[in-house]
Amino acid sequence: MPARIAVNGYGTIGKRVADAVALQDDMRLAGVAKTKPDFEAKLAARKGYAVYAATPDGAAKFEKAGVKVAGTLADLVKEADLVVDCTPEESGYKPLYEKAGVKAIWQGGEEHTLTNLSFNAAANYEDCLGASFVRVPSCNTTGLIRTLYPLDAHIGVEKVLAVMVRRATDPGDSKKGPINAIEPELEMPSHHGPDVQSVLPKLNIHTIAVKVPTTIMHLHTVSVDLKKAATADQVLDVWKRFPRVISVSGGDGVKSTAQIMEMARDLSRNRSDLYEVAVWRDGVHVVDGRRLYYFQAVHQESDVVPENVDAIRALLELEKDGRKSMLKTDRSLGIGTAK
Ligand code: NAD
Repeated sequence: MPARIAVNGYGTIGKRVADAVALQDDMRLAGVAKTKPDFEAKLAARKGYAVYAATPDGAAKFEKAGVKVAGTLADLVKEADLVVDCTPEESGYKPLYEKAGVKAIWQGGEEHTLTNLSFNAAANYEDCLGASFVRVPSCNTTGLIRTLYPLDAHIGVEKVLAVMVRRATDPGDSKKGPINAIEPELEMPSHHGPDVQSVLPKLNIHTIAVKVPTTIMHLHTVSVDLKKAATADQVLDVWKRFPRVISVSGGDGVKSTAQIMEMARDLSRNRSDLYEVAVWRDGVHVVDGRRLYYFQAVHQESDVVPENVDAIRALLELEKDGRKSMLKTDRSLGIGTAK
């Protein structure tokens, strides 16, 4: 019997996780819960997903808008082995899941303390096997872990400074900004450093962030003091051994995040998503043998999606080996085609 997965919150992340779950042969989508009967709810119903109203009094609203509902969130949770919670931060559903005895995965808007366990498939899949609750950290944090974990495991990392140039909001949002300004994150370190440490507690990392008027990707400038000398080619070879890290080249015409997203569109994946972190191979430089600099870009709407699928497998122990889960997920999403 495939595992029954519910998705609560069907926005940017929720709809992608739902589609990814629907592609797996060891799990099935039990349904999705939404607060509003908007176009996303209507499209979910058109795809054949069972739509549930997130609130007890919401069903009437959905029916009035012409969206057939299968019940409320409380009903959906009873139908599921695990809930992927993709609601905005601090929506507060933990007591509901605990009462229903259902496992749950949260997203990066939540604090690590909600679950005391944060997940990254390459770094700590095995530590999360059988857990009841886990959090998949934010898109930026996931992107940083994707390149820093391999470096630490294979070369050794003394310390990291990562400067994040963050997108203002997602393409489907017209409310947030800035639209004509650059906004520094005045908190120091930005939350990303401690967030990386929620998965890699021993990594010495400091992060700084600024927000800029773009919607398509985040860009990271990373400076790493390595524990031993390595060349840029050796660093690129380490990343090649890990899934979900791809390299792009300015020499090939990939000069900016615009061309990376164009490449993602050309790959014809679902929603033109780029699940991998993209590193500029001609932007990898080693100075004095041990100081490494590189640039990477993160597609904020989708890099956490394969991690959620693997987290489901880990919590429900559908697969004990993290590498095998990653390969299975990646094959289903077309990851690897951009290498
Ligand atoms: P979103 O606003 O696009 O979607 C949230 C969805 O939840 C919407 O469908 C909304 O109607 C619904 N919702 C709102 N309140 C709800 C409630 N009380 N109960 C049930 N549903 C409710 O948000 P998002 O960008 O998908 O973010 C979801 C989570 O994922 C957050 O923790 C966020 O920090 C994290 N995240 C977002 C991104 C990103 O770039 N968008 C990347 C990684 C992680």
